[in-house]
Amino acid sequence: MSRPSTLRSEPAEPGRRPTDRVAPLTQYVLKLVSRCDLACDHCYVYEHPDQSWRRQPRMMAPATVRAVAERIAEHAAAHRLDGVRVVLHGGEPLLAGAARLDATAATLRRVIEPVARLDLRMQSNGVLLTPATCEVLVAHDVKVGISLDGDRAANDRHRRHANGSSSHRQVLRALSLLRSPAYRTSYAGILCTVDLANDPIRVYEALLAEEPPHVDFLLPHANWDNPPARPDGHTTPYADWLLAVHRRWLADGRPVPIRLLESLLSTASGHGSRSEAVGLSPADLVVVETDGTFEQVDSLKSAFDGAAATGLDVFRHRVDDAAAHPAIAVRQSGLAGLCATCRACPVVRHCGGGLYAHRYRAGNGFDNPSAYCPDLLKLVRVVTAAPVADEPTRPADPLDERVLDDLASGAGTAASAAQLAAVHLAMVRALLVTLSERAAGDPVAADGWRLLVHLDDAHPAAVRAVLAHPFVRRWARRCRDGAAELSYLACVAAAAAVRAGIRADLPVPVRDGVVSLPTLGALAVGCERGVVRLVTDDGDVRLAGRRVTADTGHDGDPAREDGPDGWLPVRYLRVGGDRLLLEDTDPHRECYDLPVEPRLSGAAALRWTRQVERAVRRIDAEAPGYATGVRTLLRAVVPLRAAPAGRSRSAAAGAAFGAVAVMPVPDDATLAVLLVHEVQHLKLGAVRDVCTLFERDGNRTLRVPWREEPRPLAEVLHGAYARLAVADVWRHRPGPAAGGHFRRYRAWTDGALDALLGVDALTTTGERFVRGMRATVDGWS
Ligand code: SF4
Ligand code: SF4
Repeated sequence: MSRPSTLRSEPAEPGRRPTDRVAPLTQYVLKLVSRCDLACDHCYVYEHPDQSWRRQPRMMAPATVRAVAERIAEHAAAHRLDGVRVVLHGGEPLLAGAARLDATAATLRRVIEPVARLDLRMQSNGVLLTPATCEVLVAHDVKVGISLDGDRAANDRHRRHANGSSSHRQVLRALSLLRSPAYRTSYAGILCTVDLANDPIRVYEALLAEEPPHVDFLLPHANWDNPPARPDGHTTPYADWLLAVHRRWLADGRPVPIRLLESLLSTASGHGSRSEAVGLSPADLVVVETDGTFEQVDSLKSAFDGAAATGLDVFRHRVDDAAAHPAIAVRQSGLAGLCATCRACPVVRHCGGGLYAHRYRAGNGFDNPSAYCPDLLKLVRVVTAAPVADEPTRPADPLDERVLDDLASGAGTAASAAQLAAVHLAMVRALLVTLSERAAGDPVAADGWRLLVHLDDAHPAAVRAVLAHPFVRRWARRCRDGAAELSYLACVAAAAAVRAGIRADLPVPVRDGVVSLPTLGALAVGCERGVVRLVTDDGDVRLAGRRVTADTGHDGDPAREDGPDGWLPVRYLRVGGDRLLLEDTDPHRECYDLPVEPRLSGAAALRWTRQVERAVRRIDAEAPGYATGVRTLLRAVVPLRAAPAGRSRSAAAGAAFGAVAVMPVPDDATLAVLLVHEVQHLKLGAVRDVCTLFERDGNRTLRVPWREEPRPLAEVLHGAYARLAVADVWRHRPGPAAGGHFRRYRAWTDGALDALLGVDALTTTGERFVRGMRATVDGWS
């Protein structure tokens, strides 16, 4: 396609200058040449799904270079940038030849330098570097990085010519030229791609021998669809490889800056990262292809064909337009641009979710942790000495204000409830990431973790269904705190394997005579404790020759009695199209300060399920606003033992999001109220997982109308939120008795809200939430 020779911008949005809405870009990768003289088999330009290089002109034309330079200068002037960095790239930029390099560098300096300082660089394989080219590079102060993967054996593993011959000798010659006093000022450093087959220390020594001013290590390009190779089922082989280098580097007194490690150390001391591979510093970089089109970072070519495209070019669009492109802007948004799992991860400020391209998965794009997540976690922890048993951080990107306001009203839409469920899932995943490092030291857990990682890739819905189970999170939290066994991770993985219908053979722990499979049930075995080998196959579970069909709930019979095969299936109750578990087997359900019922008989289970079904239908009819939350968030009902005398009680636990525990109740109307009440606790608990509602002195206490003794602020807010909903239910019930209940609950809610708003202990978000509740109550009059 021919391009106009002068710049022409598409009209800016009326009333808004482009510079009002974008963060500036300071780094530009110019694809001077779209072809290469090597044929490295790990190259993301030529050997990965994106084949757009075939459609590009071989070289960037001088008019395009000028257009790029003018766009950069225009952008630098508009944003008053002190300096910009331009990297001449390829393919192989040295294929342009000395004369073209000379002209390109001269144009860039002539056009950009009057506006901003220009840091001009080149990334090259070095094969064609000659003294003549070095003269040009030094004359224009172009700093050159050379790609080298280690000694000859290491480098030859991938970095070869198309005919298979080695490039090693030519690369060493280039490095020797750059080391020489005449050209040393143009020597920027060495870029090395990690290969597990190479010995890390030999690679490190080979790189050091070239006396580079800087070294950088790159993980081989991978994503969730093409996951990193993990030989022998190793969980963190890339971290282990890099940590071997790290140990030696420290022992040597850090003789050369290694960008990846220095970046992690920089984040550990509270500063920004110097690498886009780690940290939360904005990736303020854009690529310009040889035809002048703007693209996102090159490494995205490893994701899918066209992954890096923006549809913009230097002839028709400003750099501002590229910066405003959603795919570029999201990479400038730091924490907010990461997936929920990363946002909740304890090391996110160091890791930053890894390289953007490594997060890709067909189906949900880049909204994932890195495919190198376990490696990054370990690397970060060791290099930055981050604490091992951290609580996952609260995602610093709290709920959208509209969601918060919606939930503060008391009821809330299905979309808001779904967002809370997503937060819960992210917290569980973050906890598992935290535990995965310890899993390496426990053979049963390690097998489970490997299976889970595989299933998460191949059968994500099955993994999601298990991780969303309320008591998986409770187990993970207890495990993190040293109060539960890590080996249960194998039970989590086995349950996901059954749900996925795949064959898996793994050791699982026996506790109290059963193997527990969350969301499915439990299998009684002939010993109280120990480890047994479990085989899952096409939805069946086999153990010591016994085969049981683990009904995954499609036709779950609530009255099903335990069979002679020892299988104790979870019973389901159906509320419309939704399905809840009647949970009486999970070993981690004992998290309430009330005793849980042991395994129910089929007849008792049938009574429970029928009553819960009727109660939910009653909520549908009486308080549809709350029915949404109940149906979206409630995943399990845990039967509690009946109290010898007195009122029926219910409970919810923050660590068991999605579960409500209830004692037997005399009627459906009472159960409906209890379910609404407890689901409010679940909702508020999930809000508090991501939003700070109280200032530091939130441990103060307050008097509330429904208790004699003062209660902590959080409990007051929980009590008010639950009572607001109960008042609303009674408001919709007919009869004078209902009116009396409504007035009592409303008065309690009123009193608690006044008390909360009267103390100076709410954050801005907390006050907004309480005022939202207040508006609902006031609206009733
Ligand atoms: S030298 Fe660089 S651009 Fe060329 S094939 Fe190798 S990795 Fe790809
Ligand atoms: S979840 Fe994994 S990829 Fe995301 S920040 Fe944590 S360690 Fe990094």
